[in-house]
Amino acid sequence: DAVKPSNFLRAIIERDLEQGFQPARHFAGSPGDAAHHAAGPLDPARIRTRFPPEPNGYLHIGHAKSICLNFGLARDYGGVCHLRFDDTNPEKEEQEYVDAIKEMVAWLGWSWETPAGAASGGAASGDAASAGTDAAGTSHLFYASNYFDFMYRAAEYLVSQDLAYVDEQTPEEMRVNRGDFRTPGTNSPFRSRSPQENLARLREMRDGQHPDGSMVLRAKIDMASPNINMRDPTLYRVRRATHHNTGDQWCIYPMYTFAHPIEDALECITHSFCTLEFEDQRPFYDWLVEHLAAGGLLARPLPHQYEFGRLNLSYVVTSKRKLRQLVEEGHVQGWDDPRMPTLVGMRRRGYTPESIRAMVESTGASKTNSWIDYSVLDGYLRADLEGKAARAMAVVDPVKLKLENYAEVFGSLDHREACSAPAHPHLPELGQRAFSLGPELWIEREDFMETPPKGYHRLYPGNKTRLKYGYVIECTGCEKNAQGDITAVLARLVPDTKSGTPGADAVKVKGVITWVGVHDGIAAELRLYDRLFTEAQPDAGDRNFLDVINPHSKRVVQGFVEPSLAGAQPDQKFQFERHGYFVADRKDHQTGAPVFNKITGLKDSFGK
Ligand code: ATP
Ligand code: MG
Ligand code: MG
Repeated sequence: DAVKPSNFLRAIIERDLEQGFQPARHFAGSPGDAAHHAAGPLDPARIRTRFPPEPNGYLHIGHAKSICLNFGLARDYGGVCHLRFDDTNPEKEEQEYVDAIKEMVAWLGWSWETPAGAASGGAASGDAASAGTDAAGTSHLFYASNYFDFMYRAAEYLVSQDLAYVDEQTPEEMRVNRGDFRTPGTNSPFRSRSPQENLARLREMRDGQHPDGSMVLRAKIDMASPNINMRDPTLYRVRRATHHNTGDQWCIYPMYTFAHPIEDALECITHSFCTLEFEDQRPFYDWLVEHLAAGGLLARPLPHQYEFGRLNLSYVVTSKRKLRQLVEEGHVQGWDDPRMPTLVGMRRRGYTPESIRAMVESTGASKTNSWIDYSVLDGYLRADLEGKAARAMAVVDPVKLKLENYAEVFGSLDHREACSAPAHPHLPELGQRAFSLGPELWIEREDFMETPPKGYHRLYPGNKTRLKYGYVIECTGCEKNAQGDITAVLARLVPDTKSGTPGADAVKVKGVITWVGVHDGIAAELRLYDRLFTEAQPDAGDRNFLDVINPHSKRVVQGFVEPSLAGAQPDQKFQFERHGYFVADRKDHQTGAPVFNKITGLKDSFGK
């Protein structure tokens, strides 16, 4: 097994498994939790993690960290990872995002289904009755909104225990009375109401008798707590909004801080891994699940929250708000623009799930937020594609090369001299690419110089160079238009120098150039992408990230590709020799109208 990068979460899981910990049994006493029941009896000897996205936007590279960590740890320790939509906030959530999130988790290679017929394993021995398993064919797809009934009952329970109250202060009063880290808060004048009064008020809230924003339900904890999150956090608010799952059934909605611990507990999550910004929420998380367990509403053992550092990638912003701004203000062409750090964007750019997983896994899990250089991701992309992408020749900045002695060498201008090359140097099963030489070829404009600098070994008058997989040619000059621009490069073939034939090496040359036949090359749109931002930390400090957008992040050119690419399929990746890795655009590429996106170059050349 490869050495795993440092990951303190593994140590926690291993400690728990060693201590023979018994995750919570399925809690049968929570009617209304349809999805929960549908999951069937849960295996008590398994760890259980979850990835809980809010369906209010597209997943980005930071989410890939959380996905791979949660699904990866569950896999590594024989556990289960739930995909749970944290859909408790009706205004911003949409089915479109639910679908896109499912698609991307699956694309990254993870599944929330226990395959039918899979051995569940890991059940505690001896006690067959209590050793439930996650039945084969079980789906671990959950919606927090399916727990709204339970959450509401939990709220009434807290009220009945004088652990929560309805507060009718204005939002401004609540803010002022919360205090700050230097000043203790001030109790609300509504804090001392009796449980009976609060219960009546809460039911009125639920029944739609109070306007939006007029009152909230708050936990009754400690307005002087040094942890602001413990100063009577809000549990429920009044909000008339149609929910994508529950429609207009509710006009009160739970707050994330109240909903999330309950979701974890109902699903018998053992290890609730979240990002560092939730550390100060942990005391409330524990407060809540402890009280609900004491009241018999939740089963023990209770879930525990652990925090890990966020993944930040250089030259990228990952805040959903900022990504939305890039799309809505037209700085990019949609959520799946190949320059976007969304997973749909990265997929369209050509990044493979393997390369993203490898990058994310190489960063392990740490207790601090980390910055990973973008070149690390490109390194993993190259490592992945080097071994599997078919090679091809492409000319990105074409100029015509005319072979002056072509008819002399081959007897006719109509002759086509067949050439070939392996599709991949180490994968003979990918077969051979076929293309041919004719009197006119496309070559890169930069492969000819009238007056070359020292060390330039490509075409200049009098110099010999090899056409890759073809012949040695000797440059004789060039043609220009009235403005003095070079319109064609002229050369003569050196007979008997064809690659792969005896004596091909008799003429020694220092340069080799790539080419595509004018007669059989395919015109293609090539989209050359660069970083979207010019600064490694686009949103550092008070900088406006829009001020550091790279104006040259997208360049579209018309090039030519070799005929073997005629059958390229959308999303198929190639190594264009010399140029780097390209992918046939999954939206716009068509046979007959090919479009290729540049993923990355062959070497790390950024900044050079
Ligand atoms: P954003 O702040 O970018 O809008 P979010 O955290 O609000 O994202 P959620 O849908 O709530 O988005 O995120 C789902 C999970 O992904 C959460 O557990 C969150 O902590 C995790 N996550 C989000 N961004 C990162 C990141 N950069 N690194 C690691 N985990 C992340
Ligand atoms: Mg969130
Ligand atoms: Mg957020």
